[in-house]
Amino acid sequence: MSDCLFCRIVRGEIPSQKVYEDEDILAFRDIRPLAPVHFLVIPKKHIESLATSTEDDAALLGRLLAVVPKIARELGAVDGFRTIINTGRVGGQEVYHLHIHVIGGGDPLPAML
Ligand code: 5GP
Ligand code: ZN
Repeated sequence: MSDCLFCRIVRGEIPSQKVYEDEDILAFRDIRPLAPVHFLVIPKKHIESLATSTEDDAALLGRLLAVVPKIARELGAVDGFRTIINTGRVGGQEVYHLHIHVIGGGDPLPAML
């Protein structure tokens, strides 16, 4: 998956504003932020989408979520945030490397449903 945009960000071939990194996970600011705080949390390993993830990814998926609150707090989303995983065509996924959007830091977001 060498030409995947987010794999290229992981490899440092495309610059990003990193907000968290460990052995398996990278988080960086979204290039088109929808709120004062808007970052993406991704596995460094290429997983196309939530729909193509497997049971073997369960621990990694858990860790992706687990790092969210600390990063959100550090960036100033202290009154809450929204997490979104767009999946597939119908889910509005644009970049086919699994990512969690974390959005907050501003006024209350409109209800989604
Ligand atoms: P999706 O619609 O796939 O859930 O969201 C993809 C997100 O990636 C979009 O919010 C878009 O702004 C963000 N994005 C696309 N290209 C880049 C990039 O090169 N750098 C960063 N930091 N974000 C990107
Ligand atoms: Zn990738």
